[in-house]
Amino acid sequence: MQDILQSLGIQATDKPLSGVYAGGWVATPGGETLSSTNPATGSNLGRVVHGDSADYEACVAAAQEAFLRWRMLPAPQRGEYIRLCGEALRAKKTELGALVTMEMGKIRAEGEGEVQEMIDIADFAVGLSRQLYGLTMHSERPGHRMYEQWHPIGPIGIISAFNFPVAVWAWNAFLAAVCGDTMIWKPSEITPLCGIAVQNIVNEVMEPAGFGGVFNLCCGTAEPVGEAMIADRRLPLISATGSVRMGKRVGEVVGGRLGRSLLELGGNNALLVMDDANLDLALSAVLFGAVGTAGQRCTSTRRVLLHKDIAEEFTTRLCQAYKQVNMGDPLASDTLMGPVINEASVNAMLAAVAAVKESGGEILTGGEQATIDGCEGGTFMQPTIARVSKDFHLLKEETFAPLVYLVTVNDLDDAIALQNDVPQGLSSAVFTTSVQSSESFLGHAGSDCGIANVNIGTSGAEIGGAFGGEKDTGGGREAGSDSWKAYMRRQTCTINYTDELPLAQGIRFGPA
Ligand code: NAD
Repeated sequence: MQDILQSLGIQATDKPLSGVYAGGWVATPGGETLSSTNPATGSNLGRVVHGDSADYEACVAAAQEAFLRWRMLPAPQRGEYIRLCGEALRAKKTELGALVTMEMGKIRAEGEGEVQEMIDIADFAVGLSRQLYGLTMHSERPGHRMYEQWHPIGPIGIISAFNFPVAVWAWNAFLAAVCGDTMIWKPSEITPLCGIAVQNIVNEVMEPAGFGGVFNLCCGTAEPVGEAMIADRRLPLISATGSVRMGKRVGEVVGGRLGRSLLELGGNNALLVMDDANLDLALSAVLFGAVGTAGQRCTSTRRVLLHKDIAEEFTTRLCQAYKQVNMGDPLASDTLMGPVINEASVNAMLAAVAAVKESGGEILTGGEQATIDGCEGGTFMQPTIARVSKDFHLLKEETFAPLVYLVTVNDLDDAIALQNDVPQGLSSAVFTTSVQSSESFLGHAGSDCGIANVNIGTSGAEIGGAFGGEKDTGGGREAGSDSWKAYMRRQTCTINYTDELPLAQGIRFGPA
């Protein structure tokens, strides 16, 4: 473990690490000191000193100063720095992936996959740096030219969740950087070492070029750091990823100052299996969607809606497949499922299991906390399948754990209605071989989610598409497509190259 930390610039010392980078590491931040815990073992990975209000101010000052210079670099030159950041990440992919595994608990393949996502978005951002296109319009006035252009918006704030401790930062940071913005990142207080490691990696590129202040880090909890960010008018955009509860608070405070928020919040994702589906495909998709990352992805499959004609067969096969899931130390190469993040997650899942039983539902497999040899201090939950009725109240809530609900439905309309009847709207999927069913699912009266898949599970999106969801998921879009527009301000410009001053709409104004 020490080797991995050391290769990421994290030295093992008795002194706690600084969690604040304000254009340079702040030697002794003024906030509280918190430990980072390995959820697989309960062991302490290191102690991190959070920022206080003065440290936060230093981050803002660094981001403001760097913004004045960074925004003046041509976008393709900014892209070149991001290309180098992608190269630096490639060189540290194994080590950073391992740290994600140790601090968050996802298995090695997923930890490295998360770093690969950072590399992919870096590549995407490099291309984008030559494609920040604006439109031109035909003016209604003679001798006038009209067009729109996109400017950097300023220093922005990035608040991220524990479950994607590095990739979500990159989705925001690399796009924002090629757009000309600088930023302050508050990672989850549960995964500060990932934040420090990422900061060290990009510093290798940015510091020698005198651009350390483009990416700043302020580890902390909601108070004082998070609340300071969302109330701060100097940050015109706050991009926040996390629970719906957090997003409502961020939306309210940022909206109250008429700032812009980009919210990526909880999901409650349904996977529909129709009677004509390829059940082998659907089975693999449910397994990865519900068990992968121990059910701690925003896109994890929470509800499987089974057509009545295949419900029994599918349920039997899924229960068998669950018995093959190898749960254990996420660092071990044959482990398929690691721990949940902490005791609070264990308790939330146990409460949901109890509610299933109280409602008359059945736990078909799992349902209990597990002990793993060699990982006695870890927080493991058995992967769990519950069969519930359509009116089970927790079907409308996101329980962030490896618990999936099976519900039997009559037909596609029934399934779509049930799928949409929740507050969240992130990801959705249908398994069918019928064109009518898939097109209905994708049509205006179909899935109401930001992501709608056919014969692909709910979990695991590519960076090329815009990622995000509707309703309580917050409406934000990150990563591919035209998501970059969130990080810039649009300006409409009209140029008159005549000696006349005609007004729009033919209005005449002045002495007759
Ligand atoms: P969380 O809401 O507890 O915390 C997320 C972040 O918000 C943390 O950095 C936290 O410190 C910060 N925060 C909390 N209150 C704040 C406040 N008042 N002001 C400013 N910052 C505040 O979420 P979590 O438990 O870390 O993550 C799990 C949740 O995130 C799940 O609901 C999951 O679905 C969601 N998530 C969504 C997406 C997406 O893209 N839609 C991606 C990943 C995770």
